Amino acid sequence: MSASTARLDLDGNTIKPITICMIGAGGFIGSHMCEKLMSETPHTVFAVDVHNDKIKHLLEPDSLPWAGRIHFHRINIKNDSRLEGLIKSSDLTLNLAAICTPADYNTRPLDTIYSNFIDGLPVVKYCSDNKKRLIHFSTCEIYGKTIGSYLPNNSPLRQDPAYYILKEDTSPCIFGSVEKQRWSYACAKQLMERLIYAEGAENGLQFTIVRPFNWIGPRMDFIPGIDGPSDGVPRVLACFSNNLLRREPLKLVDGGESQRTFVYIKDAIEAVLLMIENPGRANGHIFNVGNPNNEVTVRQLAEMMTQVYSKVSGEDSIKTPTIDVSSKEFYGEGYDDSDKRIPDMTIINKQLGWNPKTPIWEMLESTLTYQYKTYAEAIKQTIAKPVAS
Ligand code: NAD
Repeated sequence: MSASTARLDLDGNTIKPITICMIGAGGFIGSHMCEKLMSETPHTVFAVDVHNDKIKHLLEPDSLPWAGRIHFHRINIKNDSRLEGLIKSSDLTLNLAAICTPADYNTRPLDTIYSNFIDGLPVVKYCSDNKKRLIHFSTCEIYGKTIGSYLPNNSPLRQDPAYYILKEDTSPCIFGSVEKQRWSYACAKQLMERLIYAEGAENGLQFTIVRPFNWIGPRMDFIPGIDGPSDGVPRVLACFSNNLLRREPLKLVDGGESQRTFVYIKDAIEAVLLMIENPGRANGHIFNVGNPNNEVTVRQLAEMMTQVYSKVSGEDSIKTPTIDVSSKEFYGEGYDDSDKRIPDMTIINKQLGWNPKTPIWEMLESTLTYQYKTYAEAIKQTIAKPVAS
């Protein structure tokens, strides 16, 4: 970015460079945020995480144009006294740190609850005590199931958007029973939202809460056995990518009937940048960030990814591209799911004028091109390796 280009906020004021403490900067969303902040803004980032593989290209070599504006701190926020100092010396904290893969919610519920609630408590407290702004990442899972999912199958009200569109300020949060441990994540995130909201109401904390609706793109999660554990189960995009790369059928949990709206990571982080640079418009708000126009069932997503992968790899798809598995078999006891997630966009539109742009076919093509270029060769080599007897 040229130093002479004055960047203006949505109200026409010059944007001053700030320092951002980004916790969870080494993850999927964090890596894209760091890239954008380095290449398009003058801001400085304290990048806090236990890993930095996804942002290594931004940290080295020292000759990069943004050298000196990004500093990596290998810190586990569970137990590191350096965290308060970093928050104190920043203008804004962005908290992305979380366990956020569905396969963990019912199998590691304690870790999930600690990570999404208890471990974040000091972050909120340091921001509140030191009068620092906080942008906290929550989730669309906070809404749980739609009201419509409780109506009889043949009810015409199921077609009425009032029964399924998810609105920040009016929709209820509908979770399954406590035995359905899948909801441990959503429930911990909800309590964290309520705590942050209360800190705002009672102690004047300046906060913004982001509810991402299935952001996808390059660098999401890991490919099991390549850059993550062989028995690990990442989120659906990486699960399906792994199956495609290995020429295995894509596993459809409970028929793949759940409906999701997918938004491209590069669109979504535009929204976060607007929140960062327009505090007057973002403070005190909870924002849905998703793409209501990109709704598909998980089965349709599998079919689309199979088609796009054939195009980018030049390989024909396999004879049986998908197989059905039960959620108990795939995720274990205590799994449950949201039926449908369409974000209402009124608040983000009004406050920040943000709209997602990328159609689903386009985002799948760029993401699968990345997956193929990054992993295809490594997978071929793993498959070719003789198994030790
Ligand atoms: P991610 O798993 O890729 O990134 C999270 C990062 O946090 C990881 O790099 C991890 O190492 C780090 N982290 C976790 N615990 C930590 C700790 N104790 N100390 C330091 N670092 C720690 O996930 P993501 O997709 O980038 O998601 C970021 C946030 O957005 C999460 O809060 C998640 O719940 C939320 N979210 C994301 C989506 C999505 O579509 N990607 C959807 C809903 C919610």
